[in-house]
Amino acid sequence: MQIPSGPAAPGRTRVYRAHIFHIAGTPAQQEVASHLVSLPDGALVVDADGRVAWIGDFASLPAEHVDAPVTRADYLLPGFVDGHVHYPQSYATAAHGGGQLLEWLEHCIFPTEGQFADPDFAHRAARYFTRRRIAAGTTAAMVFGSAFPVAQDALYEETLKAGLRVVSGRGVQTVGPAAASALLTGEKEAISMVADEIDRWHAVDTGDPRTARVQVGIVPRFSLSVTRQTLAAMGELYDEARGKGVYFHSHLNENNRKGDGEIAAVLGAYGTQTYLDTYDGRFEEGSKVGGSSLLGRRSTLAHAVHCQPEELARMAETGTSIAHCPTSQLFLGSGTMPWRATVASGVNVSLGTDIGAGDEWLISRVAGDCYKVHISEPGDDGTALHPAELLFAATLAGARALDMEHAFGNFDPGKDADFLLIDKALWEPLDGMLTMGIRSDDEEQATLEELFTLLVGLRQPAIAGVYVQGRETIAPEL
Ligand SMILES: [Zn+2]
Repeated sequence: MQIPSGPAAPGRTRVYRAHIFHIAGTPAQQEVASHLVSLPDGALVVDADGRVAWIGDFASLPAEHVDAPVTRADYLLPGFVDGHVHYPQSYATAAHGGGQLLEWLEHCIFPTEGQFADPDFAHRAARYFTRRRIAAGTTAAMVFGSAFPVAQDALYEETLKAGLRVVSGRGVQTVGPAAASALLTGEKEAISMVADEIDRWHAVDTGDPRTARVQVGIVPRFSLSVTRQTLAAMGELYDEARGKGVYFHSHLNENNRKGDGEIAAVLGAYGTQTYLDTYDGRFEEGSKVGGSSLLGRRSTLAHAVHCQPEELARMAETGTSIAHCPTSQLFLGSGTMPWRATVASGVNVSLGTDIGAGDEWLISRVAGDCYKVHISEPGDDGTALHPAELLFAATLAGARALDMEHAFGNFDPGKDADFLLIDKALWEPLDGMLTMGIRSDDEEQATLEELFTLLVGLRQPAIAGVYVQGRETIAPEL
């Protein structure tokens, strides 16, 4: 198989001069405010291989870099990381008529995902999805995949050509309603298709999961779309694949409508004490162990809106991350993940668009919704997130969820230079807010206000450049 190479390395050292924000180091969630770096006239020096060689005030640029070409922008941020986005739902955002989760899946989602069986449709959708990611500055993503290998191949090919990062895996369903019939396979076939995708695509670009831009995961849609037999077979496969850096990704505790919502249906079908038990090898009646756990540092569960305390503790203990998707939760009426209790448990929380239940591709807008829903939680649970927490959730927490914090997520020297250039004049309202908005007389407070406005006020047209490993990404033609 021919592996597309993507954009060429920078070939020489370059300097990017802008107001730079990032969360430096490897802080715990509670410490991120003290790790916020703001360089109002900053310089990011990117070496010939696309790594961060130096970062600091432009006025202090080391002598060896003063002759390097300089690119200017208003702002420079780490690339956004989308912790949960459905590629086969690319065209299904803002779909009316679905209702809450289970009805929406049946009426809107299973039919749209069935279209990806057609190779021409799938290739066009892969190009569209890649264009949406570049427009939104999503340099890395945990991508919930299509059931169809032809569509997954198109996704990986387009991602490599464009120069983006991806973790994905075919969405596995072995049981489901009639509307999902095109997406279902037998048990054996399901596992062999996942194993084949791992063989053909996992770390295919570098051969090393610590450096690869393309990686693969085991991705059951959710517990209701598989059986105990599927979960047991996935556990066996993961025992073999975990050491190669293969991921696990699915949904957890999204919708608890009384009586017939997702959570009640899962607990009814499996007879377990918690929903998480089904992914933790404890999927037999009464949460007895029936197979191997799918949790770990390369595992992310989307939503986790209605978790029991022991589920949060178990995710924290195993290094499993949550992809928090507030925009999607508003759309499907799924409720609000309790922010304080969730982060207090120690579990890592990244942000996900959850396209297509989420109707917004831009992770900073998801961060804006995150701010709004948590300040609106009732009573003492309500909290106004710090601007540094929003930046962290949109960038470094996402890298941590992918177990790739060593490679990207901030501008610590030696990391890959994954970043966005933002020009406020490209989006008049952003220019208005940032240029004319009122600011505190206190310099530190004014900086936080500026970051908040930048994140919450940003819209796609103001993203002037999207870089991965120092290479400007290339959007495919449709
Ligand atoms: Zn989802």
